[in-house]
Amino acid sequence: MQEKKRRQFMKQAAGLGVLGVAAAGGIWAAKDFKLKKGRLRPPGAVEEEKYISMCIKCGQCLQVCPYDSIKLEDIDGKAGVGTAYIDPLARGCYLCEAFPCVLACPTGALDHEANVIEKVHMGMAIVVNESACLALDGKKVTKDMIGRIYDHTAVISKEERVNRKVEMYDNDTEKVMLQKTLLKKLSEQEGKSCSLCADLCPFTPDPSTAIGMVAKNGGLFPEIRDACVGCGACVELCPTKVLQILPYATYADVYEKKKGTNHA
Ligand code: SF4
Ligand code: SF4
Ligand code: SF4
Repeated sequence: MQEKKRRQFMKQAAGLGVLGVAAAGGIWAAKDFKLKKGRLRPPGAVEEEKYISMCIKCGQCLQVCPYDSIKLEDIDGKAGVGTAYIDPLARGCYLCEAFPCVLACPTGALDHEANVIEKVHMGMAIVVNESACLALDGKKVTKDMIGRIYDHTAVISKEERVNRKVEMYDNDTEKVMLQKTLLKKLSEQEGKSCSLCADLCPFTPDPSTAIGMVAKNGGLFPEIRDACVGCGACVELCPTKVLQILPYATYADVYEKKKGTNHA
């Protein structure tokens, strides 16, 4: 499945897209690496063409996702109304245990074998706006910066949203508890130098194999590493939109192409 996804990505990369890609050690000009933007699909999605034909737009994956990560395409979507996707700027995937979305998919559009993190590969995180990274100047995370995440978390009360503070209750469902736990972790970062992307990467067992902060230009900067599965959580959490996900891409596609530039 991994190889199929890689081929799919290379097909997309051969298109005429103009997304400039920045590696942690330097900006990649569009002329070096031309990419066509595509939708990020839920975990376990088979290659794009097959996925589009297999997704019956039933919304089962969306209904069981405890993080509300999955959306269904509307009339503007190219794959057809109701096709499942993830917009990581709105809500990434948090790689929850047992991947309920995969288990719920009745057609295998989300490959039922991809039910553990080692088998899930959605894409690859890339840097698209290097100079906006707060860590380069050691800037601290403020309440305002994390407010956006409270604003789009639907399971909390209006009061919790306004106060940027959540309380855990005994009767919270697992879904509510998971999303509140995320917000609590986010709030714990307030006042610290920004490294939200690396500190809250949900890859297990060791997030530092997917992303880590490295020295750069007198500050710090996120380095994407080969275990990254492209879940998009870092994209959602970054206050300044430094990162994006290239759907279906692998580490080799993106970073080994420019060997030696992925290190500060
Ligand atoms: S559960 Fe499977 S078939 Fe149904 S919307 Fe999600 S990806 Fe498509
Ligand atoms: S670095 Fe971590 S949070 Fe970001 S896409 Fe990769 S696995 Fe997900
Ligand atoms: S979340 Fe990461 S990429 Fe975004 S500003 Fe903070 S350190 Fe930089």
